[in-house]
Order: sequence, then C-alpha cells, then structure tokens
Amino acid sequence: MIATRDPLRGIIFNGTQEVPTLSERIRGRWQGTGSWTHWSVMKRAGYWEHGVSPRFLLRVDDFPRWDMGPEGLHAFHVILKNAGVRYLLGVIPHPAENPQDVSGKRERVWSTEEAAVLAEVAPDVEIALHGWTHRRRPGSVPAEIIGCTSEELEHNLQEGLAVLHKAGFTTHAYIPPFNAVDRQALAILARKFDLVCGGPESVRWLGYLPGPCSLEGVWFLPSYPPAYGRAAEVADFVRAVRLSTTPILIPLTLHWSWEAADKFEGVRRLADALAGVAVSFSGWVQGRAWAP
Ligand SMILES: [Zn+2]
Repeated sequence: MIATRDPLRGIIFNGTQEVPTLSERIRGRWQGTGSWTHWSVMKRAGYWEHGVSPRFLLRVDDFPRWDMGPEGLHAFHVILKNAGVRYLLGVIPHPAENPQDVSGKRERVWSTEEAAVLAEVAPDVEIALHGWTHRRRPGSVPAEIIGCTSEELEHNLQEGLAVLHKAGFTTHAYIPPFNAVDRQALAILARKFDLVCGGPESVRWLGYLPGPCSLEGVWFLPSYPPAYGRAAEVADFVRAVRLSTTPILIPLTLHWSWEAADKFEGVRRLADALAGVAVSFSGWVQGRAWAP
C-alpha cells in the first residue's frame, strides 16, 4: 500500500480502496503528530525489519468448578502443555457451592481429586488468586469484591493466599470474579499483587482501557471479545492478528469448563495458533516477551 503525507491529516492512504492494517493505522496516526513518531521509534528498535509479531498472554478461569469435575481441566491442560503454552490459571481457594446463589452459605475446601489435579498442572502454569468463594454479592450486577469494605477484602485476600501457600503455590496475580473490579479494589489489590486482570464487565467501572496498563500502582490486563470467549473464536482472532508486525501484548481469556462442549477441539486450534507467540506473565514483566 502506498501512503503519502497529508499536511493536514498526517498519513493518507491514497489510490486504494484497501483498509489500512493495524500497524499502518498506528503509523499514520502517530506521524500525524510530527516530530518523534511511533514508527521511527519502532524502526530504531529494529522491530520492523525483523517482522516481530504480537505476543499473547493466556488467562484461564475457574478452578475448581462447581459444575464439572477436575478431570476436565486435566484434558484441557495437556493440550496447552504440549504446545508449550504457559497460561495463568485462576484458582478459587474456598469455592461456593453455587456462585450465582446470592444467599448461599455453603462453601467447601478442594476435594482430594481437585488438589491432585492442581498439583499436577501447577509446574506448567502460573497461578492467580480468583476471589475467595466466587459467590456474587446481593445486587443486580455480579461481583464478589465490589461492595466489600477494605477490611473484608483484605481479610479474604489473606485467607485466599494462605490456602494457596499451604498447597505450595505462590502468586503475583489476581483475577477478579466476574471481572468486577473498580479503582478502590485495585488500590487494595496493588498491595499484594503485581497483576490484576479485567474483562468485558470491568468496563463498567474502569472504562474501556487498553492493556496492559498501570493503574492504582498495579499492572492491569483486560481482555475483551474476540480475545475473550470460546477457544474456537479466540483462535480465529489470534490467527488473524499474529500476522501483524506490531509488537504488542494481547491478553486472551478462556474458561476451561466452556471448552468441554466441543471436546476441546477449539483449544487444540488455539494451541496451534499460539505456538511460538504465547508468553507467561512473568516472562513479559521481566522483558522476555520478544527476546530472540
Ligand atoms: Zn470466574
């Protein structure tokens, strides 16, 4: 595509009906501002010449599940492990019997089978704390931690981390149940975690933030559809976007229990698409996402 500089609007894409690519749009927008441009910075960094593509960070929610046995996670996990994808697994320390039952009182510890599956997958994943019980609080909007007092949230975080520690796990990451998180909760989470995830629902409280970004002193990584959903759809998105030569980190989100419906076929397709371009949170934060 031929692009020329328009003195009023920056780069214009002339003589073509084609839609500019993501990188061309970024380049055009930034060159429109003059002086140092995103494009020239990236050229200096050597990215463009080497055709560096996006990297993807995969988050997987809800272990253990209230409606499915742990063997499902095992089947899901083996596919990603074989593709070399080290994902972030959201672990519920003290799961409610039914997370949607606002007035529910029943909670439980992990079963022996759940603890065994978790211990087996743990060396190949990074663990995130995913709430305390995952039960929604009263109110029309599903949320576990919004509406808590600071003391209540801190207490539940401590209890949750103690369960993980007792099982031999450490974590730097928190996944808010129902993606429900506001700035007040982020400020408390920032005292204990390096990373907090978000999703479609977090837009309600935080706006449509791009990610990763730093907010209230913690890395915030939201993911939105089509990067958030069922693996078959996320795989189509990854295949389309990985051809881009823009070095950005794109957080993806799956729920392992949703994937059993097609016998994990979507996960197989996603694992293929992610081979060589998936990074772990710790890899990214340590600056190794684009290391040769
Ligand atoms: Zn969840």
